[in-house]
Amino acid sequence: MKPYLANSEKTRELLARHSLFTKKGYGQNFLVDPSVPEGIVEAAGLTPSDAVLEIGPGIGTLTQYLAASAGRVLAVEIDRKLEPALAESLAGFDNAEVIWGDILKQNIPRLLEEKGVRPPVKVVANLPYYITTPILMGLLKQGNLFSSVTVMVQAEVGERMVASPGGKDYGYLSLSVQYYADPRLVLKVPPHVFLPQPKVSSVVVQLTKRQDPVPGTANPEYLFALAKGAFLQRRKTLANALAAYPPAGVNRQQVEAALEKMGLDPRIRGEKLSLEEYAALASYLGKEEK
Ligand code: SAM
Repeated sequence: MKPYLANSEKTRELLARHSLFTKKGYGQNFLVDPSVPEGIVEAAGLTPSDAVLEIGPGIGTLTQYLAASAGRVLAVEIDRKLEPALAESLAGFDNAEVIWGDILKQNIPRLLEEKGVRPPVKVVANLPYYITTPILMGLLKQGNLFSSVTVMVQAEVGERMVASPGGKDYGYLSLSVQYYADPRLVLKVPPHVFLPQPKVSSVVVQLTKRQDPVPGTANPEYLFALAKGAFLQRRKTLANALAAYPPAGVNRQQVEAALEKMGLDPRIRGEKLSLEEYAALASYLGKEEK
């Protein structure tokens, strides 16, 4: 069966026939241009030996493309009202299965086991933007369940994920994503390929699991606490920002001494440090070192 739904006329017709209206609260912006799902599938490099976890199949537009390329697709959708439309668009795509529920409440390892899918799987999705970060961080923390994550996100959020030290987009999200994965921008996507059109531009990003963990991070929770403290007050020096952030558990002199030992300017701002430098700072300042 060939995908056919990525088209505004067919999407409008399917929605109208099932008396459906898109729900803003669920981030429902459906794809209506075939070049986008084609680009996503190509970036994900899907083959018949792949199993895919899709988040938010909606009325099945991207799902059709995933099912046509992968061996198996499990798609988790929260909005049960879409069931008749989704059943219709996935008829003939027998390797796609819908799981009704909230992705943030799924026990994914158990779900895969129940469905007889052996990890790692590829995650592919046009995400509901209102919960991009909790979805992605929830996935990235789950060890070796995923080999790659290829997702549509709001452009601004994608830029922050791939940002390098020093730029305005670099921050807590960059560090926390890059701790687990190597992110890259795959596609820029304008609003007019969606129905309804979102107010923001979008990008497709691909997160590939890091092969080697960041060196020296015995205590990732502490590294994340330092990064959070640094970017809560990014205009301050790193030493002042961390001294004002109780979870970091340090005073200004301790941070300045650690920065000096690392060969960095003690008055440096947090936005200048790389992930590896945060890791080194965490081990200089971390509990095991004090
Ligand atoms: N995949 C479709 C497409 O590309 O045309 C629809 C993508 S739309 C941007 C996001 C989808 O995620 C919607 O169908 C929405 O109902 C669903 N969704 C929103 N919150 C969800 C959640 N917590 N768990 C699972 N699905 C969710």
